Amino acid sequence: MNERILYTKPSITDLEVSYATDAAANGWGERCYDYIVRFEGGFKEHLGVRYAIATSSCTGALHLGLAGLGVGPGDEVIMADTNWIASAAPIVHLGANPVFVDILPDSWCLDPEQVEAAITPRTKAILAVHLYGNLCEMDKLLAIGRTYGIPVVEDAAEAIGSVYHGNKAGSMGTFGTFSFHGTKTLTTGEGGMFVTNDSALYEKVLTLSNHGRAAGQIKQFWPDMVGFKYKMSNIQAAIGCAQLERIDDLISRKREILSIYRSHLEGLSGVNLNPEPLGVTLGAWMPTAVLDPATGINRDDMLKAFRAQNIDARVFFWPLSGLSPFEPKPSNKHAWDIPNRAINLPSYHDIPTTAIARVSAVLRNLINHGA
Ligand SMILES: *Cc1c(COP(=O)(O)O)cnc(C)c1O
Repeated sequence: MNERILYTKPSITDLEVSYATDAAANGWGERCYDYIVRFEGGFKEHLGVRYAIATSSCTGALHLGLAGLGVGPGDEVIMADTNWIASAAPIVHLGANPVFVDILPDSWCLDPEQVEAAITPRTKAILAVHLYGNLCEMDKLLAIGRTYGIPVVEDAAEAIGSVYHGNKAGSMGTFGTFSFHGTKTLTTGEGGMFVTNDSALYEKVLTLSNHGRAAGQIKQFWPDMVGFKYKMSNIQAAIGCAQLERIDDLISRKREILSIYRSHLEGLSGVNLNPEPLGVTLGAWMPTAVLDPATGINRDDMLKAFRAQNIDARVFFWPLSGLSPFEPKPSNKHAWDIPNRAINLPSYHDIPTTAIARVSAVLRNLINHGA
């Protein structure tokens, strides 16, 4: 049997281990926030934003940010139907409604025309999720936001390293969020980050993130409002500091893996990988293949073929509106169609070149010889 190829796995070196060990041994008492402060500072610098708050997850960071914008009961937040539920859950937790719109067939991200058509007097935010490290059309979304006076926010959990016309993903919206879950390009095991350039929003979210205790409040244990508790620990931040020192390498390896897939699959007709249009640089978190209907190959064919070769493959996100908590919206035709003929490909940092060739060969065989 061929050796198993995992689809994801973090890259942890002696540096991460030494920082985590130091945090575990010494990061207490007066030093209990040292790595957190350092991680937030380094992340701000990496992204080129003014403020950053480390959190326990991206879901938590989104919850804080949307609460900071005042999203509440009856409000609507427009987002793509193609997403992981983590991006929608905080909207629901706040009593608001996610409004799912269709994606563009090439980038698999939010269709700006559909966004504009979905705006109502209750629209409180537009949530741009940069799917699999592909980029939303931020120029168009930000222009729509300006026209209607609606903030555009970015879930950049999958897009560290992605750059849109010189701007890093997560730095363009009213706020941005990141995930450092074990599957992500930069990991702390579990973890996230809230970033913004808006000082008032930062102050608000900082207060919310600290159980409602304002930074200027001198009375001990005195919350001014009911807030949240989504903090990152110093030990997680220590691992994050090490990963951040290696961020260029972590991103460039992701890009390299995608480009190796491209070189193996480019000539095959009917296979589409993550697009990288002019002016866009991909962080390439998740190489993904979407097959043309003409290939006659569907998701289950691919899952079966990969399984037979002992390769982990991951299904493309189901449309959220097709899940039982939500109203079905099959009129979002790309979001409902693409998952039937798409697959995420293994792409962990240390994946051997021979493994990428093996994965590519499975797709090549399916295309050339049928399921
Ligand atoms: C991973 C991910 C999340 C969730 O991140 P957590 O840190 O697990 O909360 C949210 N949004 C997107 C787009 C993601 O890929």
